[in-house]
Amino acid sequence: MKTGLGAAAALEAILDATPVMPPETIAVSSALGRVLAEAVESDRRLPPADNSAMDGYAVRRADVAGASTERSIELPIAYTIPAGGDASRPLEPGEAARILTGAPVPPGADAVVRQEDTESDGERVRVLVSPSPRENIRDAGEDVQRGDRVIESGAVIGPGHVGMLASLGRSVVAVHQRPRVALLSTGDELVEPDQSVDGGRIVSSNSYSLAAQCRAVGADPVYLGIARDTPEDVEQCFRAGLGADVLVSSAGVSVGDYDFVRDVLEKIGCGVIFWGVQIKPGYPLVFGRIEGGPLVFGLPGNPVSAMMTFEQFVRPALRKLTGHHKLFRPTVRARLAETLTKKPGRLHFVRVELERSGGDIVARGAGNQSSGALRSMTRAQGLLVFPSEDTELAEGAFATVQVLDDEFFASEEPGF
Ligand code: AMP
Ligand code: MG
Repeated sequence: MKTGLGAAAALEAILDATPVMPPETIAVSSALGRVLAEAVESDRRLPPADNSAMDGYAVRRADVAGASTERSIELPIAYTIPAGGDASRPLEPGEAARILTGAPVPPGADAVVRQEDTESDGERVRVLVSPSPRENIRDAGEDVQRGDRVIESGAVIGPGHVGMLASLGRSVVAVHQRPRVALLSTGDELVEPDQSVDGGRIVSSNSYSLAAQCRAVGADPVYLGIARDTPEDVEQCFRAGLGADVLVSSAGVSVGDYDFVRDVLEKIGCGVIFWGVQIKPGYPLVFGRIEGGPLVFGLPGNPVSAMMTFEQFVRPALRKLTGHHKLFRPTVRARLAETLTKKPGRLHFVRVELERSGGDIVARGAGNQSSGALRSMTRAQGLLVFPSEDTELAEGAFATVQVLDDEFFASEEPGF
Protein backbone atom coordinates (compact mmCIF):
# COMPACT_ATOMS: atom_id res chain seq x y z
CA MET A 1 0.00 0.00 0.00
CA LYS A 2 1.27 3.44 -0.94
CA THR A 3 0.63 6.55 1.13
CA GLY A 4 0.57 10.23 0.39
CA LEU A 5 0.32 10.00 -3.40
CA GLY A 6 0.12 13.02 -5.64
CA ALA A 7 -3.30 13.66 -7.15
CA ALA A 8 -2.28 12.51 -10.64
CA ALA A 9 -0.71 9.28 -9.37
CA ALA A 10 -3.78 8.53 -7.24
CA LEU A 11 -6.09 9.08 -10.21
CA GLU A 12 -3.95 6.86 -12.41
CA ALA A 13 -3.97 4.07 -9.82
CA ILE A 14 -7.77 4.31 -9.59
CA LEU A 15 -8.40 4.32 -13.32
CA ASP A 16 -5.96 1.44 -13.86
CA ALA A 17 -8.06 -0.66 -11.49
CA THR A 18 -11.41 0.45 -12.96
CA PRO A 19 -13.07 -1.72 -15.60
CA VAL A 20 -15.82 -0.77 -18.07
CA MET A 21 -19.29 -2.14 -17.32
CA PRO A 22 -20.62 -4.82 -19.68
CA PRO A 23 -23.45 -3.97 -22.08
CA GLU A 24 -27.16 -4.39 -21.54
CA THR A 25 -30.02 -4.00 -23.99
CA ILE A 26 -32.55 -1.30 -23.20
CA ALA A 27 -35.44 0.49 -24.91
CA VAL A 28 -34.35 3.32 -27.19
CA SER A 29 -37.01 5.45 -25.51
CA SER A 30 -35.09 5.31 -22.21
CA ALA A 31 -31.56 5.49 -23.63
CA LEU A 32 -31.04 9.24 -23.26
CA GLY A 33 -27.70 9.99 -21.61
CA ARG A 34 -26.46 6.40 -21.75
CA VAL A 35 -23.23 5.38 -23.53
CA LEU A 36 -23.64 3.28 -26.65
CA ALA A 37 -21.98 -0.15 -26.46
CA GLU A 38 -22.40 -1.01 -30.15
CA ALA A 39 -21.69 0.68 -33.47
CA VAL A 40 -25.00 1.45 -35.16
CA GLU A 41 -25.11 0.59 -38.87
CA SER A 42 -28.05 1.27 -41.11
CA ASP A 43 -30.00 -1.55 -42.76
CA ARG A 44 -31.89 0.99 -44.90
CA ARG A 45 -31.75 4.23 -46.82
CA LEU A 46 -33.02 7.47 -45.26
CA PRO A 47 -35.18 8.79 -46.69
CA PRO A 48 -36.31 5.38 -47.94
CA ALA A 49 -37.68 6.78 -51.24
CA ASP A 50 -37.44 9.95 -53.34
CA ASN A 51 -40.06 12.24 -51.82
CA SER A 52 -41.44 15.71 -52.13
CA ALA A 53 -40.09 18.54 -49.95
CA MET A 54 -43.16 20.69 -50.72
CA ASP A 55 -46.88 20.66 -51.33
CA GLY A 56 -47.14 21.11 -55.11
CA TYR A 57 -47.08 19.23 -58.42
CA ALA A 58 -44.77 16.52 -59.68
CA VAL A 59 -43.79 17.18 -63.29
CA ARG A 60 -41.46 16.16 -66.08
CA ARG A 61 -39.15 19.17 -66.53
CA ALA A 62 -39.22 18.81 -70.30
CA ASP A 63 -42.98 19.51 -70.19
CA VAL A 64 -42.58 22.85 -68.38
CA ALA A 65 -39.28 24.08 -69.83
CA GLY A 66 -39.33 27.88 -70.17
CA ALA A 67 -42.52 28.35 -68.12
CA SER A 68 -42.88 31.74 -66.44
CA THR A 69 -45.58 34.04 -65.04
CA GLU A 70 -46.00 35.56 -68.49
CA ARG A 71 -45.79 32.21 -70.33
CA SER A 72 -47.45 29.67 -68.04
CA ILE A 73 -47.75 26.07 -69.20
CA GLU A 74 -50.92 24.11 -68.43
CA LEU A 75 -50.98 20.38 -67.64
CA PRO A 76 -53.79 18.00 -66.66
CA ILE A 77 -53.66 16.74 -63.03
CA ALA A 78 -53.56 12.99 -63.62
CA TYR A 79 -53.73 11.86 -59.98
CA THR A 80 -52.88 12.80 -56.36
CA ILE A 81 -50.18 11.33 -54.11
CA PRO A 82 -50.64 12.09 -50.40
CA ALA A 83 -47.90 11.50 -47.77
CA GLY A 84 -47.76 7.74 -47.28
CA GLY A 85 -49.52 7.28 -50.65
CA ASP A 86 -48.78 4.99 -53.54
CA ALA A 87 -46.46 6.32 -56.27
CA SER A 88 -46.26 3.20 -58.41
CA ARG A 89 -48.16 4.75 -61.34
CA PRO A 90 -45.56 6.46 -63.54
CA LEU A 91 -46.04 10.07 -64.58
CA GLU A 92 -46.59 10.04 -68.35
CA PRO A 93 -45.33 12.85 -70.62
CA GLY A 94 -47.71 15.82 -70.60
CA GLU A 95 -49.12 15.06 -67.11
CA ALA A 96 -48.78 16.59 -63.66
CA ALA A 97 -49.51 14.81 -60.36
CA ARG A 98 -50.72 16.62 -57.27
CA ILE A 99 -48.18 15.76 -54.53
CA LEU A 100 -48.04 16.55 -50.80
CA THR A 101 -44.96 17.08 -48.58
CA GLY A 102 -43.28 13.78 -47.76
CA ALA A 103 -45.16 11.84 -50.47
CA PRO A 104 -43.12 9.52 -52.70
CA VAL A 105 -42.25 10.95 -56.13
CA PRO A 106 -43.64 8.84 -59.00
CA PRO A 107 -41.37 7.30 -61.67
CA GLY A 108 -40.90 9.71 -64.58
CA ALA A 109 -41.20 12.91 -62.49
CA ASP A 110 -37.92 14.82 -62.15
CA ALA A 111 -39.05 17.95 -60.27
CA VAL A 112 -41.77 19.22 -57.95
CA VAL A 113 -43.18 22.68 -58.57
CA ARG A 114 -44.33 24.18 -55.31
CA GLN A 115 -47.99 25.13 -55.05
CA GLU A 116 -47.12 28.84 -54.72
CA ASP A 117 -45.64 28.74 -58.26
CA THR A 118 -48.82 27.35 -59.82
CA GLU A 119 -52.51 28.11 -60.34
CA SER A 120 -55.04 25.32 -60.38
CA ASP A 121 -58.77 24.69 -60.72
CA GLY A 122 -58.46 21.13 -59.38
CA GLU A 123 -58.54 19.52 -62.84
CA ARG A 124 -55.65 21.30 -64.50
CA VAL A 125 -52.58 23.15 -63.20
CA ARG A 126 -50.87 26.17 -64.72
CA VAL A 127 -47.14 26.09 -64.01
CA LEU A 128 -45.58 29.57 -63.63
CA VAL A 129 -41.88 28.62 -63.27
CA SER A 130 -39.34 26.37 -64.93
CA PRO A 131 -37.93 24.10 -62.18
CA SER A 132 -34.29 23.05 -61.99
CA PRO A 133 -33.35 19.35 -62.03
CA ARG A 134 -34.82 17.50 -59.02
CA GLU A 135 -36.01 20.75 -57.48
CA ASN A 136 -37.98 20.13 -54.24
CA ILE A 137 -37.19 16.40 -54.37
CA ARG A 138 -35.44 14.81 -51.40
CA ASP A 139 -33.45 11.93 -52.81
CA ALA A 140 -33.66 8.44 -51.37
CA GLY A 141 -30.58 7.86 -49.20
CA GLU A 142 -29.47 11.50 -49.23
CA ASP A 143 -29.18 11.41 -45.42
CA VAL A 144 -28.20 7.78 -44.78
CA GLN A 145 -27.18 5.00 -47.16
CA ARG A 146 -27.69 1.31 -46.45
CA GLY A 147 -24.58 0.03 -44.61
CA ASP A 148 -23.54 3.46 -43.31
CA ARG A 149 -22.08 3.49 -39.82
CA VAL A 150 -24.33 6.18 -38.40
CA ILE A 151 -23.30 6.29 -34.70
CA GLU A 152 -20.00 5.13 -33.25
CA SER A 153 -19.73 2.92 -30.19
CA GLY A 154 -18.98 5.10 -27.16
CA ALA A 155 -21.29 7.92 -28.24
CA VAL A 156 -23.26 9.55 -25.44
CA ILE A 157 -26.87 9.20 -26.52
CA GLY A 158 -28.58 12.56 -27.04
CA PRO A 159 -32.03 13.39 -28.40
CA GLY A 160 -30.72 13.30 -31.99
CA HIS A 161 -29.34 9.79 -31.50
CA VAL A 162 -32.67 8.65 -30.05
CA GLY A 163 -34.51 9.98 -33.11
CA MET A 164 -32.01 8.43 -35.52
CA LEU A 165 -32.20 5.03 -33.81
CA ALA A 166 -35.98 5.16 -34.15
CA SER A 167 -35.67 6.17 -37.85
CA LEU A 168 -33.47 3.14 -38.37
CA GLY A 169 -36.23 0.93 -37.01
CA ARG A 170 -34.49 0.24 -33.74
CA SER A 171 -36.60 -0.14 -30.61
CA VAL A 172 -33.76 -1.44 -28.41
CA VAL A 173 -30.09 -0.59 -28.18
CA ALA A 174 -26.97 -1.86 -26.39
CA VAL A 175 -25.55 0.52 -23.80
CA HIS A 176 -23.09 0.12 -20.94
CA GLN A 177 -24.72 -0.84 -17.66
CA ARG A 178 -24.96 1.82 -15.00
CA PRO A 179 -22.71 1.09 -12.00
CA ARG A 180 -24.43 0.41 -8.68
CA VAL A 181 -22.78 2.31 -5.86
CA ALA A 182 -23.26 1.13 -2.27
CA LEU A 183 -22.98 4.11 0.10
CA LEU A 184 -22.41 4.01 3.81
CA SER A 185 -21.64 6.57 6.47
CA THR A 186 -19.74 5.84 9.66
CA GLY A 187 -19.86 7.70 12.93
CA ASP A 188 -21.57 7.54 16.32
CA GLU A 189 -22.51 11.23 16.03
CA LEU A 190 -24.55 10.78 12.84
CA VAL A 191 -28.32 10.92 12.56
CA GLU A 192 -30.81 11.13 9.70
CA PRO A 193 -32.24 14.58 8.83
CA ASP A 194 -35.54 14.04 10.66
CA GLN A 195 -33.85 13.05 13.94
CA SER A 196 -32.84 15.31 16.80
CA VAL A 197 -29.33 16.80 16.83
CA ASP A 198 -29.36 17.34 20.59
CA GLY A 199 -26.28 16.11 22.46
CA GLY A 200 -23.67 16.73 19.79
CA ARG A 201 -25.35 14.83 16.97
CA ILE A 202 -24.98 15.95 13.37
CA VAL A 203 -26.99 15.05 10.31
CA SER A 204 -25.31 12.60 7.98
CA SER A 205 -25.34 14.99 5.07
CA ASN A 206 -22.71 12.93 3.25
CA SER A 207 -25.26 10.17 2.72
CA TYR A 208 -27.29 12.67 0.73
CA SER A 209 -24.62 14.66 -1.08
CA LEU A 210 -22.78 11.52 -2.19
CA ALA A 211 -25.99 9.84 -3.40
CA ALA A 212 -26.77 12.99 -5.38
CA GLN A 213 -23.28 13.00 -6.88
CA CYS A 214 -23.84 9.37 -7.95
CA ARG A 215 -27.13 10.25 -9.60
CA ALA A 216 -25.66 13.31 -11.27
CA VAL A 217 -23.09 11.11 -13.02
CA GLY A 218 -25.64 8.47 -14.02
CA ALA A 219 -24.81 5.83 -11.40
CA ASP A 220 -27.35 4.13 -9.12
CA PRO A 221 -26.73 4.74 -5.41
CA VAL A 222 -27.84 2.15 -2.86
CA TYR A 223 -27.79 3.54 0.66
CA LEU A 224 -26.59 1.14 3.32
CA GLY A 225 -27.18 3.48 6.25
CA ILE A 226 -25.00 4.61 9.13
CA ALA A 227 -22.41 2.33 10.74
CA ARG A 228 -21.61 2.92 14.40
CA ASP A 229 -17.99 3.42 15.44
CA THR A 230 -17.25 -0.20 16.29
CA PRO A 231 -15.18 -2.55 14.13
CA GLU A 232 -18.09 -5.02 14.10
CA ASP A 233 -20.69 -2.56 12.87
CA VAL A 234 -18.38 -1.04 10.25
CA GLU A 235 -17.51 -4.55 9.00
CA GLN A 236 -21.15 -5.60 8.84
CA CYS A 237 -22.09 -2.51 6.83
CA PHE A 238 -19.22 -2.98 4.41
CA ARG A 239 -20.19 -6.61 3.88
CA ALA A 240 -23.71 -5.49 2.93
CA GLY A 241 -22.19 -3.61 -0.01
CA LEU A 242 -20.04 -6.37 -1.46
CA GLY A 243 -22.51 -7.07 -4.27
CA ALA A 244 -22.26 -3.54 -5.66
CA ASP A 245 -19.91 -2.39 -8.41
CA VAL A 246 -18.47 0.36 -6.23
CA LEU A 247 -18.49 0.67 -2.45
CA VAL A 248 -18.14 4.17 -1.03
CA SER A 249 -17.90 4.96 2.68
CA SER A 250 -17.38 8.28 4.38
CA ALA A 251 -15.46 9.05 7.56
CA GLY A 252 -13.46 6.83 9.88
CA VAL A 253 -10.43 6.77 7.59
CA SER A 254 -8.17 9.13 9.50
CA VAL A 255 -5.85 8.14 12.30
CA GLY A 256 -8.27 8.75 15.18
CA ASP A 257 -9.13 6.25 17.91
CA TYR A 258 -12.43 5.35 16.25
CA ASP A 259 -11.22 5.17 12.66
CA PHE A 260 -11.74 1.51 11.78
CA VAL A 261 -12.29 1.66 8.05
CA ARG A 262 -8.78 0.73 6.96
CA ASP A 263 -8.60 -2.27 9.34
CA VAL A 264 -12.01 -3.47 8.25
CA LEU A 265 -11.08 -3.21 4.57
CA GLU A 266 -8.16 -5.54 5.13
CA LYS A 267 -10.33 -7.93 7.11
CA ILE A 268 -12.91 -8.24 4.32
CA GLY A 269 -10.25 -8.96 1.71
CA CYS A 270 -9.92 -5.54 0.14
CA GLY A 271 -6.51 -4.98 -1.38
CA VAL A 272 -5.78 -1.43 -0.29
CA ILE A 273 -3.95 0.28 -3.17
CA PHE A 274 -3.30 3.59 -1.46
CA TRP A 275 -4.16 5.70 1.56
CA GLY A 276 -3.73 9.47 1.53
CA VAL A 277 -3.54 11.91 -1.38
CA GLN A 278 -1.64 15.21 -1.35
CA ILE A 279 -4.70 17.38 -1.84
CA LYS A 280 -6.78 19.79 0.21
CA PRO A 281 -9.49 19.34 1.13
CA GLY A 282 -9.53 15.56 1.29
CA TYR A 283 -6.17 14.05 2.26
CA PRO A 284 -7.38 10.84 3.98
CA LEU A 285 -8.79 9.00 0.95
CA VAL A 286 -8.36 5.24 0.83
CA PHE A 287 -8.78 3.22 -2.35
CA GLY A 288 -8.77 -0.50 -2.89
CA ARG A 289 -10.31 -3.35 -4.80
CA ILE A 290 -11.94 -6.56 -3.67
CA GLU A 291 -11.07 -9.48 -5.94
CA GLY A 292 -14.22 -10.34 -7.90
CA GLY A 293 -16.04 -7.57 -6.04
CA PRO A 294 -16.38 -3.82 -5.91
CA LEU A 295 -13.92 -1.00 -6.15
CA VAL A 296 -13.75 0.51 -2.67
CA PHE A 297 -13.39 4.17 -1.80
CA GLY A 298 -13.12 5.23 1.83
CA LEU A 299 -13.77 8.95 1.67
CA PRO A 300 -12.95 11.40 4.46
CA GLY A 301 -15.85 12.44 6.67
CA ASN A 302 -15.78 16.20 6.48
CA PRO A 303 -18.66 17.17 4.20
CA VAL A 304 -16.58 19.12 1.67
CA SER A 305 -13.71 16.61 1.75
CA ALA A 306 -16.16 13.79 1.03
CA MET A 307 -17.69 15.64 -1.91
CA MET A 308 -14.30 16.79 -3.21
CA THR A 309 -12.71 13.35 -3.18
CA PHE A 310 -15.85 11.97 -4.85
CA GLU A 311 -15.62 14.68 -7.47
CA GLN A 312 -11.93 14.20 -8.22
CA PHE A 313 -11.58 10.43 -7.89
CA VAL A 314 -14.90 8.55 -7.69
CA ARG A 315 -16.65 10.47 -10.47
CA PRO A 316 -13.99 9.76 -13.14
CA ALA A 317 -14.06 6.07 -12.15
CA LEU A 318 -17.87 6.01 -12.45
CA ARG A 319 -17.64 7.65 -15.87
CA LYS A 320 -15.11 5.06 -16.99
CA LEU A 321 -17.33 2.24 -15.69
CA THR A 322 -20.29 3.75 -17.58
CA GLY A 323 -18.34 3.65 -20.83
CA HIS A 324 -17.46 7.32 -21.20
CA HIS A 325 -14.24 8.19 -23.02
CA LYS A 326 -14.04 11.70 -21.61
CA LEU A 327 -13.85 11.22 -17.87
CA PHE A 328 -13.44 14.77 -16.61
CA ARG A 329 -15.25 18.06 -16.28
CA PRO A 330 -14.80 20.81 -18.80
CA THR A 331 -12.11 23.26 -17.73
CA VAL A 332 -11.69 26.96 -18.45
CA ARG A 333 -8.86 29.39 -17.82
CA ALA A 334 -10.21 31.98 -15.42
CA ARG A 335 -8.81 35.28 -14.17
CA LEU A 336 -8.48 35.53 -10.40
CA ALA A 337 -10.44 38.31 -8.71
CA GLU A 338 -8.31 38.00 -5.58
CA THR A 339 -4.87 36.76 -4.55
CA LEU A 340 -4.72 33.20 -3.16
CA THR A 341 -1.90 31.87 -1.00
CA LYS A 342 -1.06 28.51 0.54
CA LYS A 343 1.82 26.36 1.76
CA PRO A 344 3.61 24.17 -0.78
CA GLY A 345 3.09 20.38 -0.79
CA ARG A 346 -0.58 19.81 -1.51
CA LEU A 347 -2.76 20.58 -4.50
CA HIS A 348 -5.69 22.73 -3.38
CA PHE A 349 -9.11 22.73 -4.99
CA VAL A 350 -10.51 26.19 -4.32
CA ARG A 351 -14.29 26.51 -4.51
CA VAL A 352 -15.01 29.48 -6.74
CA GLU A 353 -17.89 31.44 -8.17
CA LEU A 354 -17.54 32.35 -11.84
CA GLU A 355 -18.68 35.32 -13.87
CA ARG A 356 -18.04 36.64 -17.35
CA SER A 357 -16.37 40.00 -17.55
CA GLY A 358 -14.95 41.76 -20.61
CA GLY A 359 -14.40 38.55 -22.57
CA ASP A 360 -12.74 36.77 -19.62
CA ILE A 361 -14.12 34.38 -17.06
CA VAL A 362 -13.41 35.70 -13.57
CA ALA A 363 -13.09 33.40 -10.53
CA ARG A 364 -13.80 34.50 -6.99
CA GLY A 365 -13.64 32.42 -3.79
CA ALA A 366 -17.04 30.95 -2.90
CA GLY A 367 -16.76 31.75 0.82
CA ASN A 368 -15.32 29.79 3.76
CA GLN A 369 -12.92 27.19 2.35
CA SER A 370 -12.90 24.98 5.48
CA SER A 371 -13.33 21.28 4.73
CA GLY A 372 -16.50 21.25 6.80
CA ALA A 373 -18.12 24.38 5.35
CA LEU A 374 -20.68 22.88 3.01
CA ARG A 375 -22.30 26.20 2.16
CA SER A 376 -19.43 26.90 -0.23
CA MET A 377 -20.56 23.86 -2.23
CA THR A 378 -23.95 25.48 -2.78
CA ARG A 379 -22.19 28.49 -4.29
CA ALA A 380 -19.27 26.93 -6.11
CA GLN A 381 -19.63 26.85 -9.86
CA GLY A 382 -16.08 25.66 -10.28
CA LEU A 383 -13.02 24.24 -8.57
CA LEU A 384 -9.85 26.22 -9.12
CA VAL A 385 -6.73 24.09 -9.33
CA PHE A 386 -3.99 25.57 -7.13
CA PRO A 387 -0.96 23.39 -8.02
CA SER A 388 0.82 21.59 -5.20
CA GLU A 389 4.14 23.41 -5.28
CA ASP A 390 2.74 26.90 -5.88
CA THR A 391 2.35 29.23 -2.90
CA GLU A 392 0.66 32.22 -4.50
CA LEU A 393 -1.76 32.90 -7.32
CA ALA A 394 -1.92 36.66 -7.76
CA GLU A 395 -5.01 38.69 -8.47
CA GLY A 396 -5.33 39.08 -12.24
CA ALA A 397 -3.42 35.86 -13.01
CA PHE A 398 -5.11 33.03 -14.90
CA ALA A 399 -5.69 29.56 -13.48
CA THR A 400 -7.42 26.36 -14.54
CA VAL A 401 -10.95 25.90 -13.21
CA GLN A 402 -13.00 22.72 -13.44
CA VAL A 403 -16.53 23.85 -14.22
CA LEU A 404 -18.98 22.02 -11.95
CA ASP A 405 -22.15 23.79 -12.91
CA ASP A 406 -23.58 23.38 -16.44
CA GLU A 407 -25.77 26.37 -15.64
CA PHE A 408 -22.67 28.56 -15.88
CA PHE A 409 -22.90 28.12 -19.65
CA ALA A 410 -26.66 28.77 -19.70
CA SER A 411 -27.68 32.19 -20.99
CA GLU A 412 -30.38 34.77 -20.49
CA GLU A 413 -30.07 35.64 -24.20
CA PRO A 414 -31.32 33.50 -27.10
CA GLY A 415 -28.17 33.99 -29.20
CA PHE A 416 -30.07 35.11 -32.32
P1 AMP B 1 -14.02 11.36 10.91
O1 AMP B 1 -13.24 11.07 9.65
O2 AMP B 1 -14.85 10.22 11.32
O3 AMP B 1 -13.13 11.87 11.98
O4 AMP B 1 -15.01 12.54 10.52
C1 AMP B 1 -14.52 13.82 10.17
C2 AMP B 1 -15.58 14.87 10.35
O5 AMP B 1 -16.62 14.63 9.39
C3 AMP B 1 -16.28 14.89 11.68
O6 AMP B 1 -16.49 16.23 12.06
C4 AMP B 1 -17.57 14.18 11.44
O7 AMP B 1 -18.58 14.55 12.34
C5 AMP B 1 -17.90 14.61 10.03
N1 AMP B 1 -18.72 13.60 9.37
C6 AMP B 1 -18.46 12.29 9.34
N2 AMP B 1 -19.42 11.65 8.65
C7 AMP B 1 -20.28 12.55 8.22
C8 AMP B 1 -21.48 12.48 7.46
N3 AMP B 1 -21.94 11.32 7.01
N4 AMP B 1 -22.11 13.63 7.18
C9 AMP B 1 -21.64 14.82 7.63
N5 AMP B 1 -20.52 14.93 8.36
C10 AMP B 1 -19.84 13.82 8.66
MG1 MG C 1 -15.89 9.54 12.79
